[in-house]
Amino acid sequence: MDITKLEKILENKPKYRLKQANEAVFKNFISDWNEATFFTKDLRDKLNKECPLDIKADILVAKDKNSIKAKIKLFDGLEIESVLMRHADGRNTVCVSSQVGCPMNCAFCATGKMGFVRNLTASEILEQVIFFDRYIKNLKFKIKNYVTNVTFMGMGEPFLNYDNVMQSIKILNNKDFFNIGARSISVSTCGIVEGIKKFSEEGLQLNLAISLHAPSDKLRTELMPVNKTYSLKNILKSVDEYIKKTKRKVMFEYVLIKNVNDSDECAVQLAKLMRKKLYFVNLILYNKTGSFEPSETKRVGAFKKLLEKENINFVQRYRFGDDIKAACGQFATESKKA
Ligand code: SAH
Repeated sequence: MDITKLEKILENKPKYRLKQANEAVFKNFISDWNEATFFTKDLRDKLNKECPLDIKADILVAKDKNSIKAKIKLFDGLEIESVLMRHADGRNTVCVSSQVGCPMNCAFCATGKMGFVRNLTASEILEQVIFFDRYIKNLKFKIKNYVTNVTFMGMGEPFLNYDNVMQSIKILNNKDFFNIGARSISVSTCGIVEGIKKFSEEGLQLNLAISLHAPSDKLRTELMPVNKTYSLKNILKSVDEYIKKTKRKVMFEYVLIKNVNDSDECAVQLAKLMRKKLYFVNLILYNKTGSFEPSETKRVGAFKKLLEKENINFVQRYRFGDDIKAACGQFATESKKA
């Protein structure tokens, strides 16, 4: 569904017609314009032809049924992947992609291996959420909520597609449409400083996450080439300015990779960097792709003990959908295999 096309088709109609159409798509999650019975048959036919609502996707459901991955086919045949994670407390989080491929080339990330193909439009970002809202709507057993949370942690670097990402966020947040609270929307970046600065000026209560993954410039540059452009010092400076402006907590993601960034020394260095009031660390278990291995359980335990000793706020991300390779960043390899 192309928002721009929809606006164009309805531009000569009274304003409320566009509102009705948007509500049908973004609130009631119709999948065929014929469900929009408030439009004439002619208009419905025109919309079905010029602004079709169908979303082509293959899905893969994890054994525990709590994570579902969709491989969505875009209009030009390219594919992106998105994941729905159903939490025990009733929240339903969709992890969306912001680009096809990614230009950042992080050593441990499967998407990076694919290279950058193109940015997604705001409609293509929203389509991923709509897909899962329709999925929930059509479940045989009823569940309480539609999509309640959205994280930009799929393929791509959201801050290199800033305008489209923000356009999609504003529609997700709009009370008349998805009505997803800003506090339930998170954007994760590898540390694009200009993006962090712009994000701090949005005036919305959104969540910011930084993919840190290493506590020193030397190691971070080895793992994440972007660190050559934006050093740790510069990133943390822009995060501090963000916090000063927004008073929001910031999450630092740290994926534990065996014998790479999981030593005691790394934990101590990380603790030194993270000793700030509104910082918190999210330890992520590495999902094996390529030549890196996840840290062993004992090592993870020791790493966590050191952070605790240093009074660092941290959480460990619950592992979703191992069997469907639901982890963000594993998307590319999986789609090649499928
Ligand atoms: N480009 C953005 C968002 C996409 S990746 C960013 O870098 O933040 C979302 C998160 O998953 C990032 O923290 C990324 O580093 C991490 N990730 C990538 N590959 C992974 C893997 N194989 N296992 C676990 N996490 C991974």
